[in-house]
Formats: sequence, C-alpha cells, structure tokens
Amino acid sequence: MGLPRPSPRKMRQEHHKRAAYTGDLNWFFPDSQFADQEDIPGPAVCSRCHAYLETDHWLYDERRSNALRDQPDVHLTLCPGCLRVERRLYEGEVIVHHDWSEVAKTDALNLIHNEEARARATNPSARIALMEDRDGELYILTTTQFLAERIGKELKKAFKGSLKVMPLPRERFTRVRWAA
Ligand SMILES: [Zn+2]
Repeated sequence: MGLPRPSPRKMRQEHHKRAAYTGDLNWFFPDSQFADQEDIPGPAVCSRCHAYLETDHWLYDERRSNALRDQPDVHLTLCPGCLRVERRLYEGEVIVHHDWSEVAKTDALNLIHNEEARARATNPSARIALMEDRDGELYILTTTQFLAERIGKELKKAFKGSLKVMPLPRERFTRVRWAA
C-alpha cells in the first residue's frame, strides 16, 4: 500500500493506468473491473477468438494467430474484447426496429458486423457481445458505447429511418434506438 488515495477527479484520469495497480488496491477503484488486461510479456493469443498480441496492439489475423499458437513461449489468454464479454461488461444497447426483407436484413447484418470489425481495429475492447433476432427487431449489446453509437449512425446513413442515441446520465452506458 502506501499510495495516497487519489481524488475522484484524479481517479478518472488515471483510469488507463489502473491495470498497473496491484490487486489489493482494487477496492480503491470501484470500476477497476473495466480496466483491461495487465501487461502481458511476449506474444499472446486469445483462447477464444483469433486475436493476437505481438507488439503493443492486439491484431486479428487467423493465420498469424494460428502460427503463434504453436510457439512454445506464447501466452494463452483472453483479449480485451473477449474479456469484456466474459465479464459481461456491456456499455451499449442497440434496438433495431425493422420490417426488412431477407435481402435488406442481410445487408444490415453485414453493416453491423463491419462496424464491429472497424471498431475493433482501433479498440480491441470493442465487441458485439450479443445479437438476438426478436420479432421484428434486432437486439444488440456492445462492450463499448462508441460501437453502439456507430452502429446506429451507420444504419441511419444506409437506411435513413429515425435514430435516437441516449447516453445514460452518470453511467457508462448508451441506449441506441433505430427504426426503419
Ligand atoms: Zn478474443
């Protein structure tokens, strides 16, 4: 211990460094569960998806990931995105009301998956955690607010319709509603 307890404002700025603090200090930081992975030495691959870590960034390439998996010094771990899904750390919800034909629906699903891939390339924590096809609506949970918002904006761009983006006050969660 021996570290002074940071002020709430300071804590927020320190968010990205939290992963570096030792476990017994975690109670100082109520949302340290949001901290992404601690430093992993050497190459690592995600045991759940095809993400791999060689330098400072998680990347996605099935071939490279499989090649790394065979190396003796590789760490098998969960990438930041799979970790968030595992811990059920959802930050966004998208409800898509539609009366699409099968063709339009396929286009929309492609668009949504493309947005996930794009978000992941810059933030490995960004992931669609759940996507359910309910009666006349798609229900999507995302691990980042940004990804939920992006999906809504891209749907609006491609299919027009009406979009509502509602970040919850004082919470790390955004509700997005899009209707055709
Ligand atoms: Zn993963």
